[in-house]
Amino acid sequence: MSPFSKAHTRLAALRADLTGDAFRPEDPGYDSARKVFNSLVDRHPAVIAQCETKADVVHCVRFARDLDLHIAVRAGGHSVAGMSLNDNGLVIDLRRMHTVTVHPGSRTVRVEGGALMSHLDHATRPHGLATTGARDPTTGVAGFVLGGGTGWLDRAFGLAVDNLLGVELVTSDGSRVRATDHENTELFWALHGGGGNFGVATALTLRLHPLPEFSIALLTYRPEAGPDVVRTYREIMEAAPPEAGGGIIREQLVDALLTYTGPERDLRELAQPLRALPHVAEILTALPHPELQRVLDSPPGLRNHWSAESLTGLPDEAVDVFCELGNAMPVPTATRHLLFPQGGAIDSGPDRYPVPFRDARWTVHPFGMWEDPADDERCVQWVEDVRAAFRPWSSGAVCLNLIGDEGVDRVVAGLGAANIRRLAAVKAVHDPDNVFRFNHNIPPL
Ligand SMILES: Cc1cc2nc3c(=O)[nH]c(=O)nc-3n(C[C@H](O)[C@H](O)[C@H](O)COP(=O)(O)OP(=O)(O)OC[C@H]3O[C@@H](n4cnc5c(N)ncnc54)[C@H](O)[C@@H]3O)c2cc1C
Repeated sequence: MSPFSKAHTRLAALRADLTGDAFRPEDPGYDSARKVFNSLVDRHPAVIAQCETKADVVHCVRFARDLDLHIAVRAGGHSVAGMSLNDNGLVIDLRRMHTVTVHPGSRTVRVEGGALMSHLDHATRPHGLATTGARDPTTGVAGFVLGGGTGWLDRAFGLAVDNLLGVELVTSDGSRVRATDHENTELFWALHGGGGNFGVATALTLRLHPLPEFSIALLTYRPEAGPDVVRTYREIMEAAPPEAGGGIIREQLVDALLTYTGPERDLRELAQPLRALPHVAEILTALPHPELQRVLDSPPGLRNHWSAESLTGLPDEAVDVFCELGNAMPVPTATRHLLFPQGGAIDSGPDRYPVPFRDARWTVHPFGMWEDPADDERCVQWVEDVRAAFRPWSSGAVCLNLIGDEGVDRVVAGLGAANIRRLAAVKAVHDPDNVFRFNHNIPPL
């Protein structure tokens, strides 16, 4: 009997063990449960188990191990390569585990493994606290943080992993393990970038920062203004304090976004050179910081292909390449061409973790999104063209969250050649059979 058939035969026993639920392909609910952000991903797991408790996760891992089923772990479903789904295996779906508990006194938050950015931000904001989060409200917090995590607040508060204080994990033999600076310290180090390689994170503890005031300046320009806008933006950001962040967002028009972890009056001064350029629209306002996620709120269900390069700098030639490729974007599609500044608290954060993109100055992030399968080839090609064109300025590293499945060399680029052996040794301890392989995979040593 194949593992697939065995899984179905034993499903009643799994269901009896779970507080949550489990779906086979013939069950109502299965098809909606296997949908992820990227509609190019069309996989058919044998079983999708929607866990509600840590004990559910343990049952699922043991069930899969007994039957030799591959395991994929799913939360927000935002991995562009659809790494949270497999064919004929078990999907551990954590979306029902989304409780967020804020501890204002210690400025920490405990976030369950299936919580989304919107759950986190809405829990922390009433306390005037925040931490670095993804730029989209429906991204899963755990997948985002364990993959490094860059966001609008990273120049002020560091990468998401710099704010990781503890992980509660179910490992490949169904054990529950806690990793912190004092407990399972090698594992804790590896979780700072190594993603879902070491087990299922049932909860994370994150550091919070006071954020009493937050403001943004969002200016929109015609495409022909692009070179002046990007140069001006570069000059502002290269001298800006860590409180300032943001990015250039090229769609049909060019948006320059400045974010500021402080009052609007300070941002107004910083934004002045951008306001002096002829623009077609301007928003300069204080706002609750979760509202900002609407700026890049991306529609689910489109066809997606993205990549990224970390850049050592942004000389004039690179600015021109960015703008030319912006003009060559496949239209009419929902594709975006993004440029984010690094520096600030990213650069000054701890250099011991496996996130080698920390010391880059900029990130270019071509984000192909389209609806019509007839556009597949030209959209994928445009993303690849951006990567190729920026190679002269690439630092060689990349944030793995921002790319799909681009092969072993890119996993090494995302974790650092100097860290790979150490990560593989941690993998050998906690997942010697590579049960957790649907991720940017680190084979065990
Ligand atoms: C619209 C959009 C905006 C984004 N913005 C940003 C951004 O600003 N910055 C950034 O850094 N990234 C960003 N991302 C990328 C995102 O952070 C990563 O793809 C992240 O892995 C998504 O996690 P998820 O739970 O949503 O995805 P899923 O597809 O459910 O999971 C992705 C991976 O994370 C692992 N994983 C998820 N949860 C757990 C868990 N609890 N325990 C163990 N492993 C787990 C899975 O095994 C899988 O390999 C964005 C993605 C999208 C689609």
